Amino acid sequence: MTDLLIDGRVVPGEGPPLEVVDPATGEVWTTIGTASDAQVDLAVVAAGRAHPGWRDAPQGVRSAALRAVADAIEGRRHDLVEALTRETGRPAARNALYVDMARDLFRQYAELARVFGGRIAPANDPRQLDLVLRVPYGVVAALVPWNYPLLLLVFKVAPALATGNTVVVKPASETPLSSRVLMEVFAGALPPGVANVVVGGGSTVGARVVDHPGVDLVAFTGSTEVGTRIGASCAARAVPTHLELGGKDAAIIFGDADPRLAAEGTVWSSFLNAGQVCTSTERAYVHRSLLDAFLERAVEVTESIRVGDPFDEATQMGPMRSEHARRSVLGQVEAAVAAGATVLTGGAALDRPGWFMAPTIVTDVDHSMALMTDETFGPVVGVMAFDDVDEALSLAGDTPYGLGGSIYTDDPAIVERCWRELRTGMLHVNDPLVDNVAAPFGGMRGSGDARELGWEAIESFTAPKHVHWALGLERKPWWWG
Ligand code: NAP
Ligand code: MG
Repeated sequence: MTDLLIDGRVVPGEGPPLEVVDPATGEVWTTIGTASDAQVDLAVVAAGRAHPGWRDAPQGVRSAALRAVADAIEGRRHDLVEALTRETGRPAARNALYVDMARDLFRQYAELARVFGGRIAPANDPRQLDLVLRVPYGVVAALVPWNYPLLLLVFKVAPALATGNTVVVKPASETPLSSRVLMEVFAGALPPGVANVVVGGGSTVGARVVDHPGVDLVAFTGSTEVGTRIGASCAARAVPTHLELGGKDAAIIFGDADPRLAAEGTVWSSFLNAGQVCTSTERAYVHRSLLDAFLERAVEVTESIRVGDPFDEATQMGPMRSEHARRSVLGQVEAAVAAGATVLTGGAALDRPGWFMAPTIVTDVDHSMALMTDETFGPVVGVMAFDDVDEALSLAGDTPYGLGGSIYTDDPAIVERCWRELRTGMLHVNDPLVDNVAAPFGGMRGSGDARELGWEAIESFTAPKHVHWALGLERKPWWWG
């Protein structure tokens, strides 16, 4: 069985078995073995042992290995798409895009690492050199959530490996299938111990990885609740972290926007991946003059979304990932309705096996409702009207989160004001929920501090190291004796 990757070998897990449920049927798809405590320790030790050799290899060697990973991903494209579709319930056509993006990211970081360097700082004295090198941290623990199991793993692993770190990956226990394919890819393309994968529960396997003294950096993507706890425990031991946490992204549709086009953009960014994207649009603020036209088009498009079997090419939206996730999303909607909100469309589970939920638009909402303040992470958007730019910015900013957000306007003065005043790591103008692998992805405030993608990921996985070098040993006037 191919449960875990430890020190270059794909091995069965010796910990308790884990059932993987297909979200489109609600049935157990397969059972896999998780990592025992001893296997977690072996993985971290293997990563530590592999680190000096990987760090000291010529960059060309590391880059060639990453390109080999990319080629092997290409070779396993079908298996990866199949595994991702089975474990996430997301339509297969989208998963094919994500597999290709994963492949391309290994190529991108293979090349970026070749041209990335440090700098020479101005010296105190001309006969001295002050080198500011960028050095890898060592062993990186990568903790990954269930919504984008392959891509979010690669966002961390590709730049971490490219810069000379070794990794121990802990996939989400609901979605370990694509990682099983990927561990075979790693086993074939990388030296033993450079990448290790341990599957198992967060509070058991995840916690053991995070707490292991052999880990030098913890790179976490997941909920704010778990991430801040991990951040606190790492801070107490002075272990650095990257935290990519939850979000409550807003869309603002300003008065000059075409309300029908803005409605189409908002529906797409609210319901992609059944709303289980950290940068999903979870609340929309629409200029009052546009509200009726916006809602009319939004409901029309939402009701045309083909929800169904993710393996069917016609499907646009699959199930939610789990029953408990769906229950919590429906609970938020019910609580909002009890407090006076109106469901314009959707609002219920679909009457079929699996964890399907109708895409849902809710109006008559306000910020006393959890639907507008707590992360929903499901196919629901709450829509409120506003009267002026001040009010829109104040509503959008009324959140502890700070991941992304989107605005719809062609007024440059409004765009400039939004990027200055909205305290988020990302802002999308007229084109929501689009990543660019050349630019940083990440948040502020309650959404964490990490930056992935772009040059910024290379910087994130390296620490600056100052080498102060006097060119020749001479007595200094301030030395004693
Ligand atoms: P989660 O419950 O916080 O889990 C994330 C990962 O951490 C999983 O692998 C989980 O394992 C593990 N984990 C859980 N408890 C742990 C512990 N005590 N010690 C060590 N590891 C632990 O998040 P999720 O529910 O999987 O994902 C949804 C959340 O991720 C949402 O809040 C979403 O906004 C956020 N997210 C953020 C970004 C971003 O870039 N900012 C991107 C995507 C998702 P188990 O699976 O076994 O519990
Ligand atoms: Mg969870």
